[in-house]
Amino acid sequence: VKSIAVLTSGGDSQGMNAAVRAVVRSAIFHGLEVYGVQRGYAGLINDDIRPMDLRSVGDIIQRGGTILQTARCKEFQTPEGQQLGADNLRKRGIDGLVVIGGDGSYQGANKLAKLGIKAMGLPGTIDNDIPFTDTTIGFDTAVSIVVDAINKLRDTMSSHERSSIVEVMGRHCGDIALYAGLASGAETILVPEVSFDLDEVAKRMEGNFQVGKRHSIIVVAEGAGSAQSVADHIKSKNGIDARVTVLGHIQRGGTPTHNDRILASRLGDFAVHSLIQGVSGKACGVIKGELVATDIDTVVHTKKDFDRDLYELALRLSQ
Ligand code: ATP
Repeated sequence: VKSIAVLTSGGDSQGMNAAVRAVVRSAIFHGLEVYGVQRGYAGLINDDIRPMDLRSVGDIIQRGGTILQTARCKEFQTPEGQQLGADNLRKRGIDGLVVIGGDGSYQGANKLAKLGIKAMGLPGTIDNDIPFTDTTIGFDTAVSIVVDAINKLRDTMSSHERSSIVEVMGRHCGDIALYAGLASGAETILVPEVSFDLDEVAKRMEGNFQVGKRHSIIVVAEGAGSAQSVADHIKSKNGIDARVTVLGHIQRGGTPTHNDRILASRLGDFAVHSLIQGVSGKACGVIKGELVATDIDTVVHTKKDFDRDLYELALRLSQ
């Protein structure tokens, strides 16, 4: 490749900017021209594509969100939209693309790869729901935000209320709930991957208070149910009035942790290297510290494993 573009797509996540910076600076270091596409695939279709230089990615490594902005674009799911996107790249001589996003965005990259644009995917999502990588860009920051919020709730809970139910993001993947729940000492973690019985949860809470616990925290992934419905059920069973907190979009904002910045930097550089070597249609990840590239087809057709050991550890330690 001689000239590449970079875009961010789907839900934004902390560390996307660090990834854009890494792609741009690594490409320039290797003598490539580099372009930024605004608003994901919508920008490819609308031809919103601009040259980027070393300074255009200055002062962004610490910022949440994405300077390239992101979008969901229905039109790009049609063959005509994909062809238009590929044509808009080609007319500028752009023959490589790095897509930072989730699995939907990966599928878009794969369509472009099949149209002859060399395309690589980077896992940019707070949910950690992408297989063939141990973690995704934004996940570490999102977990830190949840842990910080639960620390604060603990302070007020041990003084007044005794139980809190915290709803976190994760429609299909309970990793934010699992990691934040373990790290913050939650008594119960409800995730979409593990079936649960709310009557048992209510009983456990009652038992905890009987053995002298001063507070009780339940973390629930949005895909496992709403915090309010869990609270209502518990109250109907044992009369305990739990305080509900829905963290929502604050989980996606704020400055990325050093882990996310380093992950984004390594992956961005790796994607550029891969394109230079002629690799295409692959998703980049880190497994046990090693950079890996896996066929996008395989990645999008594989369900991510849930870490059952970690889940059981959290249960054992929350007695
Ligand atoms: P997140 O999981 O963080 O929301 P995502 O990348 O999975 O991120 P999606 O909304 O699924 O988010 O996908 C982002 C965009 O990728 C879509 O708006 C669409 O433009 C493109 N896209 C998704 N699926 C396909 C597909 N099958 N073919 C072509 N393009 C697709």
